[in-house]
Amino acid sequence: MKPQTRKPAYFNIPELPSQLHFYCDRLRATLSTDACGERWKTAAEAITDVRWITCKKCRIGAWHAGKIDDNPSSFKAVKICARCHVKATRLIGKHLCLSCYNRQREQLVGKNAKGKKPSKLPPLRSRSISYSAGSKFKTKTIDRSLDVLELIVAVLRDEDHSVRFGWQAPAAMQALLQLKEVGV
Ligand SMILES: [Zn+2]
Repeated sequence: MKPQTRKPAYFNIPELPSQLHFYCDRLRATLSTDACGERWKTAAEAITDVRWITCKKCRIGAWHAGKIDDNPSSFKAVKICARCHVKATRLIGKHLCLSCYNRQREQLVGKNAKGKKPSKLPPLRSRSISYSAGSKFKTKTIDRSLDVLELIVAVLRDEDHSVRFGWQAPAAMQALLQLKEVGV
């Protein structure tokens, strides 16, 4: 995937001739590319620390850290439930908050804590979504999902690389497209 960011103008300063420098618009300061990359790495790991907000998700910082194709989504590595989109202290199966997990389990066993048939959660079914990330074409399938948004949030949260979602043609359409490719 081609980088989305235009590189800044680099220059050397006499005191540190071995390091490339540039002017950072976000910090309004001159930085070495190494220092910038290190700031970006620290910011990427500082999930809740607002002091690093300026460097977080910066494409130039990702470039200098050697991670130009890094997933820039604000969901990345955040403990967010893919189904209800609420932040959780822990995710069951690295996917659902405890509440969503319990509702799903109730639906599976056919009764809730009161012994009644659960009615709040719409039926879950298997869904897939296709996307490209890190120059690879991938498909994510969740056997029990509520909607496509659940898959999108899961991919944005869990994928290391920058994501582009695609359109997956139905099987019949795919067969037609393949015929077209071979010139039939
Ligand atoms: Zn949830």
